[in-house]
Amino acid sequence: MIIVMKSQATEKQIEEVIRWIESVGFTAHPSRGVERTIIGVIGDERQKEGIKQAQRLEGVEKIIPILKPYKLASRESHQGNTMVTVGRVKIGGPEFVVMAGPCAVESQEQLLEAAYIVKKGGAQILRGGAYKPRTSPYSFQGMEEEGLKLLEQVRVKASIPVITEVVNSTDVDLVESYADILQIGARNVQNFPLLKKVGHATKPVLLKRGMMTTIEELLMSAEYILAAGNPNVILCERGIRTFETATRNTLDISAVPVLKSLTHLPVIVDPSHAAGQWQYVIPLARAAAAVGADGILVEVHPHPEKAICDGAQSLKPEKFYQLMDELRAVSSVLRH
Ligand code: PEP
Ligand code: MN
Repeated sequence: MIIVMKSQATEKQIEEVIRWIESVGFTAHPSRGVERTIIGVIGDERQKEGIKQAQRLEGVEKIIPILKPYKLASRESHQGNTMVTVGRVKIGGPEFVVMAGPCAVESQEQLLEAAYIVKKGGAQILRGGAYKPRTSPYSFQGMEEEGLKLLEQVRVKASIPVITEVVNSTDVDLVESYADILQIGARNVQNFPLLKKVGHATKPVLLKRGMMTTIEELLMSAEYILAAGNPNVILCERGIRTFETATRNTLDISAVPVLKSLTHLPVIVDPSHAAGQWQYVIPLARAAAAVGADGILVEVHPHPEKAICDGAQSLKPEKFYQLMDELRAVSSVLRH
């Protein structure tokens, strides 16, 4: 259900409605817009009839059911677009945000070099995995806590926020103490205990679509995080599995406008894991900007030929600079 407050409702009336919702055992998720406030009411679906009593409270205009199975993620429950703030960076606003860096943290030298490259190109956020979910148990699994410490050092030295993946519920507190954004990878999109855990975190969460999840399933996964209390969720399309084998995955570019129509959350694209080969990354990233994504997450390595992980899809510095120039060109055309 959502409770729509009258446009002239006072802050006191809004607070009273929230208190009442909580007193009857539901949770209130207010969205304060310029025009009016709307309050998402979440709780046991079987008892939702009781919420209709809120109609009698002062300042309430109307109560409407949310028909979508994902309630807090749906456009109905929120005024306008959600903007996720990370330091001075706003994801989901007018600026196209670039998160770039190596697949995995390999050494201080590698990460620092990558940080300077991505900063020089104009990226706002540095990526790098300390925990790597790998298909093979024999592949490099990441530097783990040591990698997190390197991220922290480079974050301070290069003065750039960092995004890194968390793969296990028991590591969330640790990863959160180092990262500016917590990444949930494609393979964990339906790891519900992990989603609930990051839902209690104070840092924003970037949630990747799984290679076999529908758009609705992705939104239901986002709902787990939102319902647990974390409103700062960024969605990421990173390619899905199809019959096509020429690319690592098939970038579902239509997921961007579809998600934009269904949810208020920011939507970004990862062209690297979709393509699997660096040659396709720049065209796919251009497509992401043109289709209306809020940004990209892209793999860049100072020396891709030496990368321990995902070297084939990593851009070398010159290609990354070229990509950034092209993105600026696409964005300037779109703004006209
Ligand atoms: C990654 O971003 O390094 C990663 C493992 O991506 P995905 O979860 O999309 O495979
Ligand atoms: Mn990777």
